[in-house]
Amino acid sequence: MSASRGYFAHLFHYIQRRPVVSLCAGCGAYATGYAAATGDLPISFREKTPVLNTSTFTPYTLIAKHQISHSSSIFILRPPSSDHAVQQLKDVWTSSTNLWSVQAKQPQLQIGREYTPLPPTHVLSSSQISLLREDGGDAADADIHLLIRREKNGEMTTYLDTLPLEATIHLRGPYQDVKIPENVDEILFLAGGTGISPALQVAHIMSKRNGAKVHILWANRRRDECVGAPLESSSGSHSGLFGNLHNLWRRSSNPATTTTTTTAPSNTVSEEKGLVVKILQEMKSRVPPGQFEIQYFVDEEDSFIRSREVKRILSSKPGSDNSVGAKLIVVSGPEGFVDYWAGRKRLEEGKERQGPLGGRLGQMELNGWKVWKL
Ligand SMILES: Cc1cc2nc3c(=O)[nH]c(=O)nc-3n(C[C@H](O)[C@H](O)[C@H](O)COP(=O)(O)OP(=O)(O)OC[C@H]3O[C@@H](n4cnc5c(N)ncnc54)[C@H](O)[C@@H]3O)c2cc1C
Repeated sequence: MSASRGYFAHLFHYIQRRPVVSLCAGCGAYATGYAAATGDLPISFREKTPVLNTSTFTPYTLIAKHQISHSSSIFILRPPSSDHAVQQLKDVWTSSTNLWSVQAKQPQLQIGREYTPLPPTHVLSSSQISLLREDGGDAADADIHLLIRREKNGEMTTYLDTLPLEATIHLRGPYQDVKIPENVDEILFLAGGTGISPALQVAHIMSKRNGAKVHILWANRRRDECVGAPLESSSGSHSGLFGNLHNLWRRSSNPATTTTTTTAPSNTVSEEKGLVVKILQEMKSRVPPGQFEIQYFVDEEDSFIRSREVKRILSSKPGSDNSVGAKLIVVSGPEGFVDYWAGRKRLEEGKERQGPLGGRLGQMELNGWKVWKL
């Protein structure tokens, strides 16, 4: 997303790339959009509090910002108070089988960027939030929680980072992305960095399916993204994109260093757990044992996702094209991460397509599992 392109150019690109379909595009949303465009509305709409819709931006208030690491934070955004807003969000979380996102606006530059809301959780009801909950009654149930990573020189994230509490952030949506077909009963999610947000949405959708299983393999460059999480031990030479880069970096910073076999102890870290780790643990505790598995990997601690872990999961059960028993691998994260595991996505006639399966998964026997790149 180029810095020089304006908001409308970005929007055009976005619409071409990923057709926007509202999950809740009912009459209300349409009429609210029409209202904003024409200023000519039936009185009943003029009097209504604005709610999230795909046509116009709704002003949300930044009520809390939880710093997760040096570069990522969870933003808690509250819409103008209304029963409709609470019900709307509840409906999306209860009935949607699609991943979904919202778009935030940077008003000075008139650009928009998409973010993936985290599913409802009690973890964020920390003291700060619970105070607000007391003030606001049910209002907290309409809150949108976004895990956002600050990009160096990123236009939107630099702007968001400077906003004080109680600032207004304009959102629109919800926009639906990939649908998790009803016949899918098992998902392996390879997540890099903030790719964990869609993984949490997937876990939420699958938690409503009887006997469905989700395995998340979550890789981060730095430990501070997942403080307190037990790491997978790494044995053998470093593999994976981040592993190769890491080896390269180590060699260039210390020419005497050769690639050695490093075994990080399979450790359970006793320090206070980070918020995202706590959210994952809470999700796990809500489903029967074995239905939600999460493994953590941290580059700077020599722990990388290896093909071996992936193969173990794929070989446990074959995927099927029948009405039940389909299996899906979802890959989500920075471009290099997706590329490394599944090959590049492609732009065809201005639209972003999956492109051929490449990367490590392209070389593996997938045992009937299908792959989706986010
Ligand atoms: C469906 C969807 C869901 C998403 N969900 C999330 C989410 O939950 N959390 C999240 O953090 N992100 C998410 N993203 C990514 C998000 O939309 C933004 O792309 C991201 O926050 C960066 O935006 P930005 O404006 O800060 O950076 P940009 O200004 O777009 O810049 C991105 C990077 O490119 C570099 N760059 C920009 N212009 C140039 C240039 N001319 N030359 C060289 N480098 C340049 C910047 O330095 C920066 O590192 C999602 C994206 C999509 C499509």
